[in-house]
Amino acid sequence: MEHLFSVWPDIIHQLKNSKHVLFLTDYDGTLTDIVERPEDAHLSDEMRNLLQGLSHQSHFTVGVISGRGLKDIRNKVQIKNIIYAGNHGFEITGPGIDFINPRAEEMKSLLCIIQQTLTETLGKIKGIIIENKGLTLAIHYRMVEQNNIKIIDDTINNIIKKIGSSGKIKMNIGKKVYEIKPDIDWDKGQAIRLLMQKYDNGDQNNVLFPVYLGDDSTDEDAFIEINKYPHGISVSVSKEGQNSAAKYYLRSPSEVAVFLKLLLEQAQRGFNG
Ligand SMILES: [Mg+2]
Repeated sequence: MEHLFSVWPDIIHQLKNSKHVLFLTDYDGTLTDIVERPEDAHLSDEMRNLLQGLSHQSHFTVGVISGRGLKDIRNKVQIKNIIYAGNHGFEITGPGIDFINPRAEEMKSLLCIIQQTLTETLGKIKGIIIENKGLTLAIHYRMVEQNNIKIIDDTINNIIKKIGSSGKIKMNIGKKVYEIKPDIDWDKGQAIRLLMQKYDNGDQNNVLFPVYLGDDSTDEDAFIEINKYPHGISVSVSKEGQNSAAKYYLRSPSEVAVFLKLLLEQAQRGFNG
């Protein structure tokens, strides 16, 4: 993995050859710092202005792909006319697109039952946040005392063992969060594939150029998908040396802001100039 700024001239060169950029990014830990309570992860005005600026460039299509529910991520970002993908891409809305994965939708009631069970068994643990995001569940344990983590882990694993063995749900572990979701072949990578198909007009002279930024385990599917496109730019927001499929890395959301600023300035000057 190379630091994105160390290859900046190459990136600009690649962008110059492209007429349409699909700029996609994760939210938590990528555009904002990771905070104790997910509801406190606010987008800075600077970041919002930069994203909005990019979305106004005629050759940019901007989107945010998050593990948050669709409504939640829209409320957090608050930019009009961009793509929003919630629940890791199970639901997507944006200019010319309105998608919900039908198999995920079928599982809503099962997730409600699991949520109920988890609330009964773990709800009293101090600091735990059990969140129903509609199409997925998240159990946040960042604020839970160390000696309570094992019981959370055991309980969730038992549920997964019982229900998961029927092939209906699966679990993913992110940054201090367990995510329980329908066990269907759909992830951020497939959501990106859908968006590429949607926005690529098939014109060889107007090739769609995808960029994706993310910081967590579910972003790896996105990086792998982005890397399939010869000029795709996959960026892990992480420390150097972290294991990731991404081609490049940036160290923090602050560096992401610098990247957006450089990109916007270049876009305003015109990539062909
Ligand atoms: Mg993230």
